[in-house]
Amino acid sequence: MKKTLIPVLLFSFSLLTNSQVTLDYYLRKNITYNSSVPTPKQFFGHEIGEWHLTHDRLYYYMLELAKSSGRAIWEEYGRSYENRPLGQLIISSPENIKDLEKLRLDHISLCDPTVSGKADISKMPLFIKLGYGVHGNESSAQNASALVAYYLIAGEGKEIDDLLKNTIILIDPALNPDGMQRHSTWVNFARSLNNNTDPASWEFSETWPGGRSNHYWFDLNRDYLALQHPESQGRVAAFHKWKPNINTDHHETGANETFFFQPGIQSRNNPLTPADNQELTSEIGKYHEKYLNSIGSLYFTEESFDDFYVGKGSSYPDIHGSVGILFEQAGVRGHLRETPGGLLSFPFAIRNHFTVSLSTLEAGLKMKNKLLESQRNFYREALVLADKHTVKAFIFNEPSDNARVSEFINILLQHNIKLFRTGRDITKNGITYKAENSFIVPLKQTEYRFIRSLFEPVTEFTDSIFYDTSTWVLPLSFNLNCYPLTIQKEMEGITGSEVTSAPLPQGKLDSPENPYAYLFEWNEYYSPGALYFLQDKGLKTRVATESFVYDDGSLKKTFSPGSIIVPVSGQPVSGNDLDILMKKIVKDFGISVYGVATGMTREGIDLGSNKIMVLEKPSVAMIVGDGANSSDAGEIWHMLDTRFNIPVTMITSPRFGTADLNRYNVLIITGSPEISSAGLENIKTWNRNGGTIIGYESGNSWLAKSKFAEIEFVPAVTDKKKDGIYLNKPADSQVQQIPGSIFQTKLDLTHPLCYGYTRDIMPVFKSTNTVAKKDPNIYNNPILYTDAPLLSGYCTKENIERIKGTPFASVHGTRVISLYDNTNFRAYWYGTNKVFMNAIFFGQIIR
Ligand SMILES: [Zn+2]
Repeated sequence: MKKTLIPVLLFSFSLLTNSQVTLDYYLRKNITYNSSVPTPKQFFGHEIGEWHLTHDRLYYYMLELAKSSGRAIWEEYGRSYENRPLGQLIISSPENIKDLEKLRLDHISLCDPTVSGKADISKMPLFIKLGYGVHGNESSAQNASALVAYYLIAGEGKEIDDLLKNTIILIDPALNPDGMQRHSTWVNFARSLNNNTDPASWEFSETWPGGRSNHYWFDLNRDYLALQHPESQGRVAAFHKWKPNINTDHHETGANETFFFQPGIQSRNNPLTPADNQELTSEIGKYHEKYLNSIGSLYFTEESFDDFYVGKGSSYPDIHGSVGILFEQAGVRGHLRETPGGLLSFPFAIRNHFTVSLSTLEAGLKMKNKLLESQRNFYREALVLADKHTVKAFIFNEPSDNARVSEFINILLQHNIKLFRTGRDITKNGITYKAENSFIVPLKQTEYRFIRSLFEPVTEFTDSIFYDTSTWVLPLSFNLNCYPLTIQKEMEGITGSEVTSAPLPQGKLDSPENPYAYLFEWNEYYSPGALYFLQDKGLKTRVATESFVYDDGSLKKTFSPGSIIVPVSGQPVSGNDLDILMKKIVKDFGISVYGVATGMTREGIDLGSNKIMVLEKPSVAMIVGDGANSSDAGEIWHMLDTRFNIPVTMITSPRFGTADLNRYNVLIITGSPEISSAGLENIKTWNRNGGTIIGYESGNSWLAKSKFAEIEFVPAVTDKKKDGIYLNKPADSQVQQIPGSIFQTKLDLTHPLCYGYTRDIMPVFKSTNTVAKKDPNIYNNPILYTDAPLLSGYCTKENIERIKGTPFASVHGTRVISLYDNTNFRAYWYGTNKVFMNAIFFGQIIR
C-alpha cells in the first residue's frame, strides 16, 4: 500500500504546482550550457518560479556558481541587521577575472579628471551592475537574479564570450535580504498545493509589516542619500569602489499593471542630472523594447515614476556619472493570481525581469564606448560647472552638539565628498564660524552636482507632482548653522586640513574630589542615551526646569533648562562607583560631565530647588501591528534601539484589552490601530494614573477620534478651479499635496519639549496634508510654524497660509503629547529627534 501511495502523492504535487515551468521557458533557445555548472533545479530541487527562494538558498547558489567557474567571484560588501550577507557576484571572462583589480583601478580613473584624459576607452570593459529586490517582497526580481547568473556562467558560444570579454557584470541578487526572507517565508507557508488564484486569498495578504522594508521597517530604496542602514552603506561603498556605468534596479508594482522601464517622466527629472543621462536611458530602452517585443510582454515607459529624488537606486547613479534604470514588473506577491488582464504567474514575472537583464547587457555591450565617455565627461564637466556657479563653498558648524556634526560628516564622507576644517574664523549672518569647530565643503570637486543637491534649498519647480519628497537639504535636517560662500576673495585662507574621518565627539569628566553632584547638559545628541543608562542602573536623576549659573571658583558655567543633575547622596551605589559610571557615559556617549562641590549656585535656582524635578526612568510601549504605521513605528524603534539603547515594548492592538500597562509610563501611537473598547478604557485609566501618551503624525487623528484629546484640524484647501478636463483629473488632485517639504518653526525654549535646543528656530520636515489647530491653552503649543515657514520644497501659497502659526507639537491636558509631523524622518532628521526624546523623558514633568 505504502509503495503505491508515494508515487501518487508525488504526481499530484507536481501536477498542481508551477512545476510545468522548465528552464527553457526562461532561457534563450540558441545557446548551449556548460553541464558542469549546476542548474537552478539541480541546486534547489525545484525550478525557478515554482516556490519563492529564501535569501539563504539564493545566496548559497551564488557561492556555488562562483565555485564552479573561473568566470565569477563573490564579493561581500556588508551584512544586514539580521547578519545576512550582502554582496555581488562579479562575472566576466576568466582573463578579466584574473586581472580584475587592475581593470577596476583603470576604470575608476575615468572619474578623476586629473588623469582620465590618458585612458584609452576602446580597450576598457564596461561595468554593469544588476540589482534585484531592494523591496524584499518584490520577489520576481530576486528570483530572476539566479537565472541571470546561471545564464552568464553556464552559457557557451561567441555571443556570451564577446559579452564577458567586454563587460564586468556585478549581480547583486538581493538588495534587502531581511525583507526577502520575511516575504519568501510568508508566501511559501501560506501557499496551497492547488494554487489559489483568488486575490482575496491569505497567500496575497502578507502579515504586517510585510517584507518590503528592512529589519527596522525602513524603505531601503529611499536610503541611498541618508545612508543610515548597513545595506545602503555597504552598497554605496561598493558603488564608489566599482562606479558601474549602468545600474539596474528591479522592482514590482501593483498586480494590475504590466511592465515599466525608464526613462519615466522626463519633465520630473532632477535638474542637476546631466541631459545626456536621459538620452542614454532612452537609447538603452530601445533594447528593452526589442527583447520584450520578442516575448510578447506588454510594457510602458514614460507615464509614471521619476528620478527627481536622488536617494533611490535608479537615481543615485544618474547624479554620479552613471545610468540608473528602474524596472517595475506587475507583482504577483504569491504564485498565481487573477488580474483583470488574466492570470498572472510568478514565472511570467520572473521571465520579464530576466529578459530586461539580458537587454541591459546587450545595450551595455553595444553602447560601451559611449557610456564610458559619458562617465569621463561627467566628472570633467563637474569642475567646469563649479567654476561658473555662484556658490564657491558651504561652511557649517554646530558648537552645541558635536555628535550631530559628526553624524553629518559621516554621511558626506560616505558619498566621496571632500571636506575640510576651516582655516580661519569667519562671521556670516551674525554667526561666527570658528576655525576650531567649523568645516567647509568646496564646490569645485567631482561631486559638485551631488553636493548642490544636498546643500541647496529649492522652492521653484517645473512640475507640481512628485513621486517622492520634494526636498532633502541635509544641513537643515541636521539643524546646523550653514552658509554658502559666494565671494572668491572670502575663500582665501578658509580651507584648512582635509577631514578624512568623522571626528568622534569627545566628552570629559571635570570634577573635584568628593563631588556633591554631577551635572550634564541636554544639548548633545546622545545625552538621552547617557541619562537612560544611569536611570537603568537605578540612579536617582533630576532635570532643571530653569537655567542657573554655577560658579565655585574652579568651574563657572551656565546650565540651561533640561540639564541633568545626579546627586551623590541617596544613590544605590557608592561615590566611587558613581564616578566610574560617569566616566563610562563620558566615553560611551561623548558628552561632558561636571562634578560640582556645592548645591549653591551663583544665579538662579539652587540644586535642591523644586524646579529641579525628579525623573522616572521611561518605560516605553508602542502599538504595532494592523493599523499602526510601520514606517513611523520602525523609525522610532530604530532610533531608540540603535542610538540610545532604550528598549521599547511593541504591543499589538488585540492585547490592549488585557495588557498590564502599569509596567510602562510612555505609550506611543502611530497610524490608526484597531483597539477594542476594553483596550481603550485600559489605556484611559492608565493615562489618568500618570502614563504619558505620545500621538505621532496620523496617530493624532486616532487620539482625537478615540477621545483622548480634543484636537481640531484645519480644513484642507478646496480646489478653486471652475473648469477642468477629465484628462487632468489625477494631476489636478495632486496640486495641493505636501510631498515632503521643509518648514521653519519657532520654539519656546523654556518648555520641556524644547529642552536641549540652543536656537529658538528649527527646520522641520512635513509630508502630510494634515494641519492641526493650536491647543486652546496658550502654554501648550511650544513649537509653532512661523509666519513665513517654507524653507525648501514644494508647497502652494494656499497651503502655506494654512500652515503658518499652527503647531508642530502640542500638549493636551497634562499627559497627552501630539507630535503632528515626523520628527524622525528616514532616520536622517537628527535635528528634530530631540523633540521626540523630550516627549519620552520629560512628558512626565509637564504641568
Ligand atoms: Zn519596489
